[in-house]
Amino acid sequence: MSSSLNESLGKSVDVAIVGAGITGLSAAWHLSQRGLTVAAFDGTGIGSGATAVQPGGVRQQWGTEVACRMAREAYAFYNEIGERLAPAVDPRLTACGYLFVARGEAELAAQRERLELQHKLGIPSREVTPEEAGELVEGLDTSEVVGGVWCDQDGYFDRPLAVVGAFADAAARDGATFVGRRVERIARDGEGWRLELAGGEVARAGAVVVAAAWDTPKLLGPLGVELPIEREPKYLFYSDPIRERLLEPLVVVPELHFAAKQLADGSVLASDLGGGSRPDEGKEDWHRNVRRAITATLPILEYVSFPVLVEGFYDVTPDRQPVLGAIDGHDGLFVAAGLNGRGLMMAPAIGRVIADGVATGEVEDWMSALSPSRFADGTLTPELQVV
Ligand SMILES: Cc1cc2nc3c(=O)[nH]c(=O)nc-3n(C[C@H](O)[C@H](O)[C@H](O)COP(=O)(O)OP(=O)(O)OC[C@H]3O[C@@H](n4cnc5c(N)ncnc54)[C@H](O)[C@@H]3O)c2cc1C
Repeated sequence: MSSSLNESLGKSVDVAIVGAGITGLSAAWHLSQRGLTVAAFDGTGIGSGATAVQPGGVRQQWGTEVACRMAREAYAFYNEIGERLAPAVDPRLTACGYLFVARGEAELAAQRERLELQHKLGIPSREVTPEEAGELVEGLDTSEVVGGVWCDQDGYFDRPLAVVGAFADAAARDGATFVGRRVERIARDGEGWRLELAGGEVARAGAVVVAAAWDTPKLLGPLGVELPIEREPKYLFYSDPIRERLLEPLVVVPELHFAAKQLADGSVLASDLGGGSRPDEGKEDWHRNVRRAITATLPILEYVSFPVLVEGFYDVTPDRQPVLGAIDGHDGLFVAAGLNGRGLMMAPAIGRVIADGVATGEVEDWMSALSPSRFADGTLTPELQVV
């Protein structure tokens, strides 16, 4: 995206986007595609937040209608990413499959219920027996496994940052600009909005989309808009690249709060999914939990060591659903934040919904589950299939 501070400050744009992570970039491209003038503002650069850390997972196995529909739309988009965004580097979406393993009947029952919903919405997931799970994932110890669910369309971008670059470049080709400034304050300005930037400059826009992840509440709070979006630390362990292929699908063991996958470069990624909620217990604990889960479920990884620990942050909400759409009572103010660990895989749908909202004021009925007003209304639709 071209960086043109003076140009963007000199005239009012149709839409200002606060935050140039994958969410803001997708919104920028979708809005530019509709012929609107767009400027994206970020003090730390394009794709420098959680977007820089995510390893590229893309799945359609979700537990609520809204998440399934968005995942389905995003998956269809990503399958055509070459034609849609003409990326400079092929991000390579590889369908490795995601296996959710159940070790107890309660987890299996919950998986079956979500499977039913997924099937209604056209997601080609299926239940697998322990034997089938063992065939799908070589090296899985099935002795404690009672079943599981699998979708072979789920997968990974081998080069997730190429997706970020693709949205940024495509938005720039359509005329969007990037301004390397933090937005300190957003305020009403006649019919539109004024953005006060770090350094004292001011920018103006007809509409504003706040896509600033966990920083979003700080910008909206002074306008009287309270959103429960919080920062939650997450940790991924990585091995050094290994030549042997040990684990092609992504395996999730919800009861052990564990997920693992070998990436395209040969490194193995493993995570204690509960790790982020116990920051004071620290790295050794999560490492121990990962080792314990490997021994119990994926002994094939027993001799893999994990010297690299990467810290990142989810922007979480109480119902684990994004906050997306127009903010009531503030004409032309929109939010796209609280991605709860799924920002890359949902980005095409998030950007499309924001562009619809800005351009036409319309959103589909099923999107009401993500409405910014839901916390005040108390109408939450919790998503439980979180990783
Ligand atoms: C360990 C880990 C693993 C993950 N794995 C996956 C995965 O496999 N698949 C997946 O889909 N998702 C995954 N995610 C989640 C994904 O990374 C995020 O949901 C996504 O990157 C969020 O994008 P975003 O643009 O909303 O936020 P961010 O990327 O955090 O971008 C927000 C931007 O806003 C900017 N900003 C904040 N305040 C201001 C301000 N006042 N003015 C201007 N700019 C501001 C920040 O500088 C930042 O660049 C993972 C996340 C983590 C941490």
